[in-house]
Amino acid sequence: MIIDFNLCTDENGAVVCRHCETTIGDSRSSPMNKALRHARPSVDAGPGIHADPALFVDRGIMLRQVSCPGCFTLLRTEIVPAEEPSYREWSLR
Ligand SMILES: [Zn+2]
Repeated sequence: MIIDFNLCTDENGAVVCRHCETTIGDSRSSPMNKALRHARPSVDAGPGIHADPALFVDRGIMLRQVSCPGCFTLLRTEIVPAEEPSYREWSLR
């Protein structure tokens, strides 16, 4: 089953990269448990986000990205409050 441009499921239900066939997640309930995760200050997101978030909010803001461990294709980017415990999750039903 094709999930999106970068991901699909294989015959065993694992989530795999469509570019390099590396397993990203063991199952539909853990679709990204093997992905690479990076967290950095939000100002690293690029020229569109260059202001210090402390000028606008009291909470620390982080750039979090998820990539394929095989070919490093970027799978997800989020800019979120730093104290949020983990990446937002999605599941396949
Ligand atoms: Zn890949």
